[in-house]
Amino acid sequence: METNKGILSLDEESRVRIWQTVSEIIETYVSDVNRFRVTPELDPEKIRAPLLPMDFTGPIDPFEAVDFVVKALWQYQVHTPHPRYFGLFNPAPATMGIVADALVAAFNPQLATWSHSPFAVEVEQHLVRSFGRVFGYDPDETQGTFASGGSEANHTALLTALEHTFPRFAHRGLRGLDKQPTMYVSTECHYSFLKAARLCGLGTDAVRSIPVDDSLGMNIDLLSETIAQDREAGFAPFMIAATAGTTSAGELDPLAEIADVASREKVWFHADAAWGGAAALVPELRHILDGIERSDSITFDAHKWLSVPMGAGLYLTRHRDVLERTFRITADYMPRDASGLDVVEPYAQSIQCSRRFIGLKVFLPLLVAGWDGYAAMIKHQAEMGDLLRRELEASDWEIVNRTPLPVVCFRDGRNAKGRSFEFVETVTREIVSSGEAWISTTRLYNDIPVIRACITNYLTEHEDIHSLVASLNSARKRYHERR
Ligand SMILES: *Cc1c(COP(=O)(O)O)cnc(C)c1O
Repeated sequence: METNKGILSLDEESRVRIWQTVSEIIETYVSDVNRFRVTPELDPEKIRAPLLPMDFTGPIDPFEAVDFVVKALWQYQVHTPHPRYFGLFNPAPATMGIVADALVAAFNPQLATWSHSPFAVEVEQHLVRSFGRVFGYDPDETQGTFASGGSEANHTALLTALEHTFPRFAHRGLRGLDKQPTMYVSTECHYSFLKAARLCGLGTDAVRSIPVDDSLGMNIDLLSETIAQDREAGFAPFMIAATAGTTSAGELDPLAEIADVASREKVWFHADAAWGGAAALVPELRHILDGIERSDSITFDAHKWLSVPMGAGLYLTRHRDVLERTFRITADYMPRDASGLDVVEPYAQSIQCSRRFIGLKVFLPLLVAGWDGYAAMIKHQAEMGDLLRRELEASDWEIVNRTPLPVVCFRDGRNAKGRSFEFVETVTREIVSSGEAWISTTRLYNDIPVIRACITNYLTEHEDIHSLVASLNSARKRYHERR
């Protein structure tokens, strides 16, 4: 690399070789990851050691640099694309999603403005309308924005709900309101709502956590009572955020009943369907989302059940101008090439300014698989969830959660000691550190400790389920023998 030019852009021959090397590395990872441990050794010293001498003073051969990173990634990460990663909704990325992200890195379209990337923006707008239709919105009325993930989409939902309910909010802020706004979630909601309450300046005290019923869905009577009490006490309820597929247990708040409460109370109804929204694609599961079409806005994460690389969140709304009212700020340096055209300016509709072409990793897999391809894959995962429930019960594990979605929360059904927090932690830690699988623990229904296993991967098969149950059975046996 003699010339300055060659420092960031390798010469042609090296480029051809490095693209080829990288594509071989990707193919090896994708086809071989299932033969390796799922989990890494967690030793910060060991991970940092090779980084310490890297002070960026002299150039390193590009092939050597790639080799270093690839070996380290193989060694030090939870392999979420592994079929025995039974985790937190992190899928194996679809081939066409990987292709999309590589193309996006190379073409580097800038999605702040329509005129810089008109095709990319139109693809995303087409997807917004298509997903609007999937969730029962009128596609022509659907507006939306791609986001880094569900957290940003939920943050967007809070901001649009505030703007919609308090039209002076965008300019005067919360201080300009004469009452403290309050919002309503279930105790099982994703924590991003609490974080969003902070980011909006509402504060977490403005978030009312409504207890759930045995089904782990929000208790409607308590919701109505809490709203009434808040009004009485001088607060201004503005939003109910229902969860369609909770992160812990895959449970659903009663969407249709929440829609009734929201319309009676004239508050914004947001549906957080980050993971569970994919059920809309499967005719047999569609009914569990009944009522979502009455929501004012929806969060959906394509990087969860649609198996595209992170981060691909989607915020949808059926209020045509609310995004624009919430986010439009003009600046003299922003391009005006598209002024006068009937198009959407993404920077005026979202939190982000410079934005990568998130929609392509949704568009390409969807073009290639079609809705039917996705439906078959989601059904397969739901079936693997049913198989896991059956196999666990056959080995005397007690299933604690109730959901048709493939996330299973369970505890030992044989031995009272198997109901302790210590048991679920010990068994889980043993399996995770053995590298055989990745599972986790959580607490449900007022503090019942459970082990959680979710089918997040479309490649997970019968033998992966058998192997997980076998690992659980032997970890349980060892636990009880030690005590
Ligand atoms: C994962 C998840 C989120 C957060 O989404 P990110 O993409 O991780 O930011 C929000 N809500 C629910 C229900 C989720 O499962």
